[in-house]
Amino acid sequence: PPLYKQRYFFVKDIVNQYKPKKVADLGCGNATLLCMLKFHSCVQELVGVDLLMDRLLDWNSDKLSPSIGDHLGPRDLDLSIVLYRGSAVEKDSRLLGFDLITCIELIEHLDSEDLAKFPEVVFGYFSPGMVVISTPNSDFNPLFPASTFRNSDHKFEWNQTQFQHWASNVAKLYSYTVEFTGVGVPPPWAKHVGYCTQIGIFKKKQPDPGSWILAKPTGSRVSEPEEHAYQVIDPRKI
Ligand code: SAM
Repeated sequence: PPLYKQRYFFVKDIVNQYKPKKVADLGCGNATLLCMLKFHSCVQELVGVDLLMDRLLDWNSDKLSPSIGDHLGPRDLDLSIVLYRGSAVEKDSRLLGFDLITCIELIEHLDSEDLAKFPEVVFGYFSPGMVVISTPNSDFNPLFPASTFRNSDHKFEWNQTQFQHWASNVAKLYSYTVEFTGVGVPPPWAKHVGYCTQIGIFKKKQPDPGSWILAKPTGSRVSEPEEHAYQVIDPRKI
């Protein structure tokens, strides 16, 4: 399958494996990934966020809203899907408490100022149980005919060392573990370049049960003030 589909299948596998109830996709584009995830019975809440919504729902609005045809199992009755127009570097309290946040081919679109804000918003504030971040691996680029950025919108393309350095620092700062993998295997004679798309899987470290010093009440977050920076997109109005 083409690379973008391999990335979606990668996320589907993660969802199958970890069974998150609440999943948000930042930089969701035309929401294809969300459409695929709505069929996973573990998922109860799907949220998509993108800066640009105009091209989003022309073909997807019907697919996205839970439709009559989807109500084959009881689970669909409690599936909610919400799309927001907003930036992944702005805080919105409606993104708190998620099990999984995915950022598929998003970070390379952030300028240095936004990239600097991103970890504090996603890991520090949204603070989901898991984060999956994918980005092009520039070590792979020499295998392409024209060895430049893959897309003119990209602000950067990191090699494996750069991505892993950034991701490890973020993980350390916000108490997550991170593992690296990817999709798009190189040909056998170029194994050293790594995957075409590099992926970091971040998991929040559970607070040490013995550490009484983290005196947050269990089960409830220290209540964050409501903060709504995002605009709800109603698919029926597009
Ligand atoms: N994740 C989708 C996918 O894999 O098909 C779309 C990837 S596309 C390469 C990057 C997306 O990120 C675009 O839809 C763009 O509008 C969005 N984007 C760029 N900067 C953003 C930001 N600061 N906050 C939210 N979305 C952003």
